Amino acid sequence: MTSTAKHAATVLTVPAFADNYLWLIHDGVHAVVVDPGDAAPILAALNQHRLTLTAILLTHHHADHIGGVPELLQHYAVPVFGPRNDAIAAVARPLVEGDVVSLPRLDVEFAVLDVPGHTRGHIAYVRRDGAAERWLFCGDTLFAGGCGRLFEGTPEQMVASLSKLAALPDDTQVFCAHEYTLSNLRFAAAIEPNNLALMARVRIEAAKREDGVPTVPTSIGVEKATNPFLRYSEQEIVESLVEAGRLAPGASPVAAFAALRQWKNSF
Ligand code: ZN
Ligand code: FE
Repeated sequence: MTSTAKHAATVLTVPAFADNYLWLIHDGVHAVVVDPGDAAPILAALNQHRLTLTAILLTHHHADHIGGVPELLQHYAVPVFGPRNDAIAAVARPLVEGDVVSLPRLDVEFAVLDVPGHTRGHIAYVRRDGAAERWLFCGDTLFAGGCGRLFEGTPEQMVASLSKLAALPDDTQVFCAHEYTLSNLRFAAAIEPNNLALMARVRIEAAKREDGVPTVPTSIGVEKATNPFLRYSEQEIVESLVEAGRLAPGASPVAAFAALRQWKNSF
């Protein structure tokens, strides 16, 4: 059943490709899409829920996040917001940290954070209009139980970017762009097997996937308690890295993070 009544803004999950999530922020009448890697599922969702698109937000330049933009623009002449420091031809409203985005026709406002590492110009959007629900749209920077690969940035940059996200309030809902959670948690559990919160989470998220339910959004609080890429200074994780011969004893936290990211690449 569809409804055209205007309500407080909510976030609709739109699965795409093998494991991407595209996000539609809407109030029952107007909608803004985040990272439309594909146009077809967004057009279908807009049609099904009778929504009018008013803007496109992009976090970084990879095709699975921007591929649907040209087709969406054929249907809706809307502004495209995105990172100033990733080269994306369609971006008419380039953003850097400190900028604020008011979503057209929606009562939602985002602050922009620079979160380089996965790509040079990757940005994240943090809701800042004082609504009860806190939202973070972080693309491929922070994942549920993991983080994005370092395609263009350094471990130092990614550590700084993740620290900005970890500093957000614990109840911030984290809308990341991929369903990588179970694979991420298998790695996390192997290197921090005595983390009880992590072991409990493995069961919770596995049950969700068995029921076909997304594990995203997650929250900053859950990630701080269970995500090794926010916990690389924890003693058990450092010991796992040292025991595996992947880290020199006494190495810096950034070196531990880099070793962790490297290990996950081949895990
Ligand atoms: Zn990406
Ligand atoms: Fe991606």
